[in-house]
Order: sequence, then C-alpha cells, then structure tokens
Amino acid sequence: MDNLCLLLWAIMVMMDITLLFPLLLGWLAGLFINYVADVLPFTRSFSRPTCHQCQAPFSSAGLLRLWADYLTLRTCRNCGKRRSLRTWLVQILTVASFVYFWLFPSKALGIPLGMLVLIYFGIITVIDLEHRLILHPTSLAGAALGLIVGTSIHSRADGILIGAGKSLLGGLFGFGVMFLLYQFGALVARFRARKMQAAGQAADDEEALGGGDVYLAGVLGLMLGWPFIWNGLLLGVLLGGLISFLFIVALLLRRRYASDALMTFIPYGPYFIVSAFYLLFL
Ligand SMILES: [Zn+2]
Repeated sequence: MDNLCLLLWAIMVMMDITLLFPLLLGWLAGLFINYVADVLPFTRSFSRPTCHQCQAPFSSAGLLRLWADYLTLRTCRNCGKRRSLRTWLVQILTVASFVYFWLFPSKALGIPLGMLVLIYFGIITVIDLEHRLILHPTSLAGAALGLIVGTSIHSRADGILIGAGKSLLGGLFGFGVMFLLYQFGALVARFRARKMQAAGQAADDEEALGGGDVYLAGVLGLMLGWPFIWNGLLLGVLLGGLISFLFIVALLLRRRYASDALMTFIPYGPYFIVSAFYLLFL
C-alpha cells in the first residue's frame, strides 16, 4: 500500500501539471460527443437526454437533477441500468486522444482546431456506427468547421483568399465524386431489386452507398482542401474496398457468397473519417 502511494506520488510529480488541462477538456468533449450521439439521431435537436434502456427522461426530480445525473454518468434512477459501454468508451478515447494531441499536436491543425475536429469526428463516427446515418445538421455544422479548417491549412502558404478557394474546391470535388458514385450505387440497387423480384423475394431498401456519405465527403473535402481531398478519397475507398474484400473472402470460405454478397454494402463514412484523421493528424 505504501509502495502504491509512493508510486502514485512519483507519477503526480513527474506529470506536467498542465496535462490537467487536456484531461479536463477531453472529459468535457467526451460528455458532449455522448450527449449529441444520444439525442440528435432521435429528436434532431438538443433535447433532454433519456435512458438508453427504458427511454425514461434521465431524472424526473427536476431539470438540475437530470443534468447532474446525466453528466456524472449515473445509472438510470428509473430502471437501474448502467450507462452504455459506448458512453465509457467515448469518454476514455476522447480523453486519451486529447492528451496525446496536446503533447504531439497536429502540424496542420494546431491544438484548438485539432480538438474541434476530434469532437466532430467523434460525433460523426458514433452516430454512423450506431445508426448508419450521417445527419444533415451535423453535415451543416461540419461544412462550417471544414471551411475554417481548410482555409487555415491552405492560407499559410497561399494567403487567405486562395486558401479559402482551395478549401471550397476540395469540398466541391469530394461532394461531386461521391455524388456520381452515389448515382451509380442507386443504379446497382435498382438492378438488384429487379433481380430479387424475379427470384420471388421481396425487395428491401438497402442502399449501396448512403446519401450521407456524399455530404461527409464534401465536408472532408472542405477540411483537406484541393488537392489533398484526392488522397483522402483514395485512402478511404482503398480502406473500404480492402475491408469489404476480406469480408467477401470470409463469406466465400463459408460458402455463403451467393446469398449474401449482394446484401453487403459498403458504409464509406467510417473509412473516410479514418483516412481524413490520418491525413490531418498523423
Ligand atoms: Zn432507464
């Protein structure tokens, strides 16, 4: 016990006291990401949070109590269920990434913009993974953030006007390329629906490529700007293709290709986020 105390004390002394700042900010950012991911997909607004198990508002004992319970990650007072695993994962990952990029800031973004982009990527990723959705309000907010980020990256070498131009061009390019791919995907989906009808199956609404991915590509295009959006798209598509390829190989090995292959679609959102994250931060 004494040894443990000594060790903790040594760590405290060695740890730069300024690290408390990204620790605290990271925790708050995690709370914000969790909150947005908890309410926005359901109510499309910054509404009162409800329990993910019983849907009861977080506490009926008044607004102050509700927010206190919610923000201190308490178990639900109505059903007694703990907060979701995602809640804790987001808190830990956000704190870890804030501390890491505080110590080793992105050269392109610097610390404050880097933190904003981390929060944005966190929100998009959680909502996309949980709901297969990229919401319009987050795309709009992302467009504003993207224009600021892209302009600040490119104006260092070219001045603010050309910097903003490169950001806009990147956004247009990302949006345009994914829009064309989306149209192609819609064509494939129609073909597939006809094939399924011919086979006597009911058609479903599976989309080859989500419409939200088109907006996301536009946002990331604004952030990366021209010509880096090329690298971002290419990296994302390669990554998505590679994972899907492995998935199809796994299906083939289990001899389920014929029935399942056309059912699998590629959600590009997370792959685009990963590639943009790589380009902006690492
Ligand atoms: Zn509950």
